[in-house]
Amino acid sequence: MSEPLTSHAELLRVLDHLAAGRQGALDRLFQVLAIPSVSTDPAYHAACVDAAEWCASSLREIGFQARVEKTRGKPMVVGHWHGSGSPLRVLFYGHYDVQPPDPLAEWTAPPFAPRLAQDPQAGEVIVARGASDDNGQVMTFLEACRSWLAVHGRLPVDVTVLLEGEEESGSPSLPSFLDNYGEELKADICLVCDTGQLDADTPAITAFLRGLAFSEITVTGPSRDLHSGIYGGPATYAGEGGSPAVGCGASIPIVESFRSRLGMDSLLVGFALDDDRIHAPNEKYNVKSFTKGARSWARLLDELGAIDGNLKA
Ligand SMILES: [Zn+2]
Repeated sequence: MSEPLTSHAELLRVLDHLAAGRQGALDRLFQVLAIPSVSTDPAYHAACVDAAEWCASSLREIGFQARVEKTRGKPMVVGHWHGSGSPLRVLFYGHYDVQPPDPLAEWTAPPFAPRLAQDPQAGEVIVARGASDDNGQVMTFLEACRSWLAVHGRLPVDVTVLLEGEEESGSPSLPSFLDNYGEELKADICLVCDTGQLDADTPAITAFLRGLAFSEITVTGPSRDLHSGIYGGPATYAGEGGSPAVGCGASIPIVESFRSRLGMDSLLVGFALDDDRIHAPNEKYNVKSFTKGARSWARLLDELGAIDGNLKA
């Protein structure tokens, strides 16, 4: 391996920036959670467009070139930041649409009025529709990119972002979109943030290999780093807190679409928990999952930046 393109000191400054910016990150997450981007109900179509526009403008504010691209259904958000000098390009995928909030009567507070609450088990939590699935998780990646760019003016690898607005309604526009924009979206690997952790202190990686085959891997690693080898070998990954990381199986259709239409493998790194009540009343997201998720992405980007092109072999 050649000299890493990033150094440990660089990463630490990014992590410090994330820690100092915690409140701002929560404020931004609350802004998008206030938009009722329910894709399954036509009554919320304008809100879905608003959410897409919010995401694109947020990406531009960070330093990406980003736009909202129409489809027959809900628009896609596409963003690029290229110029890292790394041979690697990653495609990040997430979705801005959310499940309907019904039954509304079971919410203890309005679903699109995000708030912080104390959970007896989880501690401080964000309560809102989409807090965990998937706006909270999408924002972990955007916040990591924001801090990298704010501190260093660059990302460790080239990054393309694709945010979908129909994940909760079966992704009807996605196949044709990938056919039309495949060349633009193509990357060495896709990073998907729409899955779960094993538990509050144990992050999980799900690595899809070929087609619909996916692996269930258990890896134990040092307390800080993700080492190269995520392609063709198990990743050694440790999330915040130094717990061993455990990969577990999950299935979302986008991964198969990326493989069959773009020839790309996906790495699923999610920061949701089984008790987040996704798709149910009073959906919550642990503040710890949000802040540590962003820190994990900052580290993962750093590690990807240290790969000298083996991923392309
Ligand atoms: Zn989701």
